[in-house]
Amino acid sequence: MHLGVILNRVFRVKDNPLFEYVAEHQDEINKVYFILPIEDLDDAATVKRDYYHKVMKGFVSTLDRYDIHPYIVTYEKLGELAHTLELSHVLLAKDIMSYHKEIYDYHHVKRAFTNRQITVIGQRVNHYFQPTKTFNKQQQPYKVFTSFYKANRQGLVYTPKKNYQFYQLAQNAQKGSNQSDLKFENSEDIEKLARKAWHDFLNDDIINYDKLTDDVSQDFVSGLGKYLAYGLLDIREIINDLLEGYESDEKNYEAFIREVIFREFYYVLMTQYPETATKSFSEKYRNMQWSYNKAHFEVWKKGQTGYPIVDAAMKKLNRTGYMHNRLRMVVSQFLTKNLFIDWTWGEAYFKQYLIDYDNASNVHGWQWSASTGTDAVPYFRMFNPIRQSERFDAQGYFIKTQLEIFDKVSSKIIHDPTSHKTKFKENYHIEIGKDYPEAIVDHKSSRDYVMHKFKQY
Ligand SMILES: Cc1cc2nc3c(=O)[nH]c(=O)nc-3n(C[C@H](O)[C@H](O)[C@H](O)COP(=O)(O)OP(=O)(O)OC[C@H]3O[C@@H](n4cnc5c(N)ncnc54)[C@H](O)[C@@H]3O)c2cc1C
Repeated sequence: MHLGVILNRVFRVKDNPLFEYVAEHQDEINKVYFILPIEDLDDAATVKRDYYHKVMKGFVSTLDRYDIHPYIVTYEKLGELAHTLELSHVLLAKDIMSYHKEIYDYHHVKRAFTNRQITVIGQRVNHYFQPTKTFNKQQQPYKVFTSFYKANRQGLVYTPKKNYQFYQLAQNAQKGSNQSDLKFENSEDIEKLARKAWHDFLNDDIINYDKLTDDVSQDFVSGLGKYLAYGLLDIREIINDLLEGYESDEKNYEAFIREVIFREFYYVLMTQYPETATKSFSEKYRNMQWSYNKAHFEVWKKGQTGYPIVDAAMKKLNRTGYMHNRLRMVVSQFLTKNLFIDWTWGEAYFKQYLIDYDNASNVHGWQWSASTGTDAVPYFRMFNPIRQSERFDAQGYFIKTQLEIFDKVSSKIIHDPTSHKTKFKENYHIEIGKDYPEAIVDHKSSRDYVMHKFKQY
């Protein structure tokens, strides 16, 4: 066979099932072509685009060290290249949720190759579970997280590392060319950096995970989302490490494993209900009359709502392409409940900015907050952004990292400037409504409105 190996979003040289496949099937392969298709991220935020390119460049220079030189093309030219190379088969990942555009996913790409009479071999590379193997006794997907977790937790077992030698892979590999505008010299070994960051988390921070994960003023989270989104680390490697260290600190390791299983839960749901990418999971809310107030949406995007915790979180996202999980919950509830804006708007904005964007986790995270998802927060348990701020950023440290104007403001009033206008002016010379916006909506009135709207369905 003439095999094309599509290396998209599996940007790692270690534990890469695509490489393992090639090594195991050497006897059947006449020629192998490693192909790196480049996603078009023109409509993504610069921080996300830059990270993507950094990862890709790092991957290419690492491959270079192993004497593997992929063909680098845009997605648009992928079919043409396959034709020129006379590929009989292509090998690619079939379980990736982090593509920037839907057209890059397995189903679209598979169809395009099949139309050219090229046989497609799909490999699982990015999720732990095979969706159908996680089903309940009625052969249905679990729709409640706790049941999914209890049923599948024991399915996490140590997986042997992938076994292949690069000199073997390089032997049959054809030397590719760079047909893109990107330059790949002097790039960092980002896979190595990702693995180091993961080990640092295990060594230093996981001990605080259960207790302090929600404290947004401290950084006790792993940052793993982005490594998984670009396939820099293998989920099996992560699980192996977690099982290995488990007995040293069961409580914190289990709390972390639970979160990783959340990612699997949403992945399984998305494979079974792909329509929920744009439609409410709960059918009764599909005709919800959301607000489409563009001015409100702009204010939320820019972080000018007058609620410091929301504004600081949005500014951090805009600046860095990252937001802490607790803050994702706070800002998404604020958009869908306080402003009553359609969750799909927020989902699309996160997709543009989040470096760790993952379609399943993002869509279901949004639907959780909007109360339209499965196992979502009930609509009557609406977050109060001021209470959230007091609980999870008690001293206002996080707010101060993003809103410098509040640098000297006391933690007693920082969470709710609108109610403390006079003190802000007298004590800090900050005029609310001029130097910092007044609250865009009153929490109590928006709560009443949400209750009224949801009760109609
Ligand atoms: C509105 C909203 C949108 C979200 N969008 C995304 C997204 O696009 N991509 C994404 O990976 N996660 C998303 N999440 C889930 C979660 O916020 C991120 O996984 C987490 O913040 C990533 O940071 P971390 O790797 O440091 O997390 P850690 O706290 O260190 O968690 C470790 C890993 O566990 C998994 N995980 C943790 N919490 C969740 C969760 N609630 N749902 C699914 N997986 C979880 C992730 O793989 C994460 O990397 C979203 C959550 C909400 C509420």
